[in-house]
Amino acid sequence: MSKIISLCKRRGFIFPSSEIYGGFGSCYDFGPLGVEMKNNIKKAWWDEMTKNQENIVGLDAAILMSPKVWQASGHLTAGFADLLVECKSCHKRFRVDELKTKVCPECGGKLTEPRKFNLMMRTFVGPVEDEAALTYLRAETCQGIYMNYENVLNSMRLKIPFGMAQIGKAFRNEITTKNFVFRIREFEQMEMEWFCRPKEAEKYFDFWKKERLNWYLNLGIKKENLRLREVKKEERPHYSKETVDIEYKFPFGWGELEAINNRGDFDLSNHSKCSGKDLRYVDEEKKEKYFPYIVETSGGIDRVFLALLCDAYQEIKGGRTKTTKPTKEVEILLKLDKKIAPIKVAVLPLVRNKPEIVKKAKEVYQLLKPHFVCQYDELGSIGRRYRRQDEIGTIYALTIDFESLKQEDLTVRDRDTMKQERVKIKDLIKVLKEKLER
Ligand code: ATP
Repeated sequence: MSKIISLCKRRGFIFPSSEIYGGFGSCYDFGPLGVEMKNNIKKAWWDEMTKNQENIVGLDAAILMSPKVWQASGHLTAGFADLLVECKSCHKRFRVDELKTKVCPECGGKLTEPRKFNLMMRTFVGPVEDEAALTYLRAETCQGIYMNYENVLNSMRLKIPFGMAQIGKAFRNEITTKNFVFRIREFEQMEMEWFCRPKEAEKYFDFWKKERLNWYLNLGIKKENLRLREVKKEERPHYSKETVDIEYKFPFGWGELEAINNRGDFDLSNHSKCSGKDLRYVDEEKKEKYFPYIVETSGGIDRVFLALLCDAYQEIKGGRTKTTKPTKEVEILLKLDKKIAPIKVAVLPLVRNKPEIVKKAKEVYQLLKPHFVCQYDELGSIGRRYRRQDEIGTIYALTIDFESLKQEDLTVRDRDTMKQERVKIKDLIKVLKEKLER
């Protein structure tokens, strides 16, 4: 894990927040490469969950909502405000008044000091900081979806079954935070709420479980590093009738990437009760009125980010090149999927002391920049520059050499095979687009 953390810092993926002040409470900032990669993950999810599906629409709700939402959702009451201790190893939390041992009853790990604890982050809205102005930063994005259920249903003239998808920040005041961005206090979720007839919830639960697992496989994550885990009743969140977690085998052990929940009618019926607004669905054809059941797919982008890095990270002892004498050095290769890699193309002049070559390379860079996320690099030997690109997962490295000046072409080096082919500059955009979409 320390190697991944160091790569992230060295190459601009992730930095500790407020680092010059010693960091801040398990918050992280995504650097220039991190933000590209994160956007790629979000796009892959968004395309899959909206463009490639029928009957799923998007939403971007506000982070701040009425505190009544959190009262009704059970987040302010359901075990969240008790005196708790948390196990430093397995993260299970226990109510102090129910605890019979000084160590974790589950795994024997050390426990934190007891604290009156609510995961919700408090904030104040308006000029006066009193209880009347108190609200919370959302702890899950889906509440914004429930708040807009009726508006979206009516404005989009949807019929059940249908889904609403949203990507956005969520905040939890976690007691213990560790394992880099796996457990942080400000994170990003990608959630889809599927509204269906109660009778069909089980069928859709099964459907989404498979769909979501396939999404991870399609991002290139190795099958043996993924598993589905049925979550037992006593472990499930208060709103869930049934939960399956999609887990990844991190260097520190199996960890949850995404939860698939059958939330039943918990959310809509509670919000109806508490708001006084009837949120039952009216089925004109079947002449029925009922609370739809919700099947939820709830994933965390930061955890997917970390899983993708762990899965793609390879160290090659003695270096990758077999044509020259192997050095003792270890080379790093980040074998990220084409969709996910932050930089698609690197443009490299073979040497930097030949103005014509540098000029041509800069022209190529300007030509490609509007079409692909590119990097221009002229520092150090060409071998070193290939290695630098391999380390950040760049898919293609383009080299402009002496031939290029005569032939109007360049070499395209494939990250995984290290094979090079010459391509005419006039065909470059088309060729690269085809290769990247393959
Ligand atoms: P855990 O058991 O690991 O605390 P959870 O069961 O509380 O997670 P959910 O409430 O199911 O998590 O949230 C859905 C998803 O949001 C998780 O699968 C995870 O990817 C992400 N997530 C939740 N909490 C965090 C966090 N503190 N840091 C990063 N991602 C998180």
